[in-house]
Amino acid sequence: MVRLVFLGPPGAGKGTQASLIAGFYQVPHISTGDILRTNVAQRSALGWQAKEYIDKGDLVPDQLIIDMVEERLEKPDALHGWVLDGFPRNVGQAKFIEQLLSTNQNANDIQGEKTQKNNSLIVINLQVPDQVLVSRLLSRGRPDDNEQTIQHRLQVHHQQTEPLIEFYKERQQLITIDGNHSVEAVTNSLKQAVNQSC
Ligand code: ADP
Repeated sequence: MVRLVFLGPPGAGKGTQASLIAGFYQVPHISTGDILRTNVAQRSALGWQAKEYIDKGDLVPDQLIIDMVEERLEKPDALHGWVLDGFPRNVGQAKFIEQLLSTNQNANDIQGEKTQKNNSLIVINLQVPDQVLVSRLLSRGRPDDNEQTIQHRLQVHHQQTEPLIEFYKERQQLITIDGNHSVEAVTNSLKQAVNQSC
């Protein structure tokens, strides 16, 4: 079973790589950014609440995001693995995933199923220098991809998401990949690294 999490700053290529890797392992690609944008477009209650944060480049409050991810991971297609893109983005969210996996593990132990190495969470840290990120984001042109919001998102990433690198290093779940190469080259390094740790 493949359970993958992508860390990495905005513009690192998480979405592109997460989608390719999910296709390769035939598990759902779950992007919190995409789910939020769909909610905003549909003007759902969650969309209304999340919009002001997204527009500013701030993190949407944990409780909203965690409920949203929990609901998505309960769907049948996510029972046999997933690739998470954009979650967790802070220590609180990482603890939620840890808790969720340990609950699953206990359930499996009770049913006598063989559990997997490391409880099979693999964390990919996609590294790209800041100046490359900014130019990639400006050429993408999403509504939250203006210069001011981009700078703020990078700052939020450094402050809130980067501590997860240490968090997962300590748990020996971290794989760092150089994301400053072509899409194909990055996908190849990723597949190699994931195959070695599954
Ligand atoms: P990027 O990584 O390119 O900035 P995303 O599509 O992953 O873009 O996220 C866009 C926005 O959605 C973020 O700036 C944030 O406001 C919100 N968001 C996405 N995932 C989360 C999360 N796990 N926790 C809080 N907010 C989130």
